[in-house]
Amino acid sequence: VSEDTRILPADPAAIAEAGALLAGGRLVAFPTETVYGLGGDAGDDRAVAAIFAAKGRPQFNPLIVHLPDVAAAAAHGVFTPEAERLAAAFWPGPLTLVLPRRPEARLSLLVSAGLDSVALRVPAHPVARALLRAAGRPVAAPSANPSGGVSPTRADHVAAGLSGRVALVLDGGPCAVGLESTIVDLSGPRPVLLRPGGVTREQIEAVLGPVEASQGSAERPNAPGQLTSHYAPGLPVRLGALSVAADEALLAFGPTPPPGAGAVLNLSPAGDLAEAAANLFAMLRALDRPGLRGIAVMPVPEAGLGLAINDRLRRAAAPR
Ligand code: AMP
Ligand code: MG
Repeated sequence: VSEDTRILPADPAAIAEAGALLAGGRLVAFPTETVYGLGGDAGDDRAVAAIFAAKGRPQFNPLIVHLPDVAAAAAHGVFTPEAERLAAAFWPGPLTLVLPRRPEARLSLLVSAGLDSVALRVPAHPVARALLRAAGRPVAAPSANPSGGVSPTRADHVAAGLSGRVALVLDGGPCAVGLESTIVDLSGPRPVLLRPGGVTREQIEAVLGPVEASQGSAERPNAPGQLTSHYAPGLPVRLGALSVAADEALLAFGPTPPPGAGAVLNLSPAGDLAEAAANLFAMLRALDRPGLRGIAVMPVPEAGLGLAINDRLRRAAAPR
């Protein structure tokens, strides 16, 4: 029997309860500035395994560990000079650093999926920060959605996908950034951009100089040129749409969407990429309706946050 999941407004009492649940090995979903996370005690193998089970993740890919500040992060990862510069520039915020894992790090081996590196992030969202302080331990948290689906940017998205699989959902309203964190790997000889995200490549390069982008990405390291289906709604997704059919939904961008769609939502009528990022996942969900043939998506410029938006859209459109 699957009990319903409780959703509570993220007030101090709910945050304290969520912290106690995490300390007791339970899973809690919470808002961050990127998307909602499905959190568990990063030092507890069983809690980390429960995250994989709740998401239905087919394989143990490594998870991002969330910490309240740089000092806490430095207990688990080796900060190179480049890591220190990126942390100073973008933490707290939507940036994840993959660093050599300290041998003495008190983290589940499962969060690193057996690698000798660890992915660390200090989030900016006040609820996430308060929860990390209340839990008093590092929190492993992937996006709070079933594996392969569209990431959640509101508490009701979490409940729709994970009801009965999470002890509590803290409702902190819609996520401001709306895209996952940018991941920079600093565990090798040169920095590598593993995943485009809420901090743009241009912003990273302003701090580090030119950065190589991984051929694959964090989710498909061994399959260059091949997109893994991810972030996928139920309906097929068609990219680069300049016209649209009556039995298609249109995910528009900019001031002049083509006429004739069966349903339309506009990521940003003004053509603003930050607004588009914040709307992306909620609008993909809202257009994912029965009775339509697919979701047509207008072109989004491949610059700034557009890199991360197009990365997610290409995966949403990839063969299933
Ligand atoms: P998610 O938790 O769903 O936002 O995904 C986390 C991403 O971080 C995945 O794409 C992982 O492959 C990547 N990641 C986490 N830890 C590591 C690591 N140690 N090395 C490389 N990639 C990592
Ligand atoms: Mg995810």
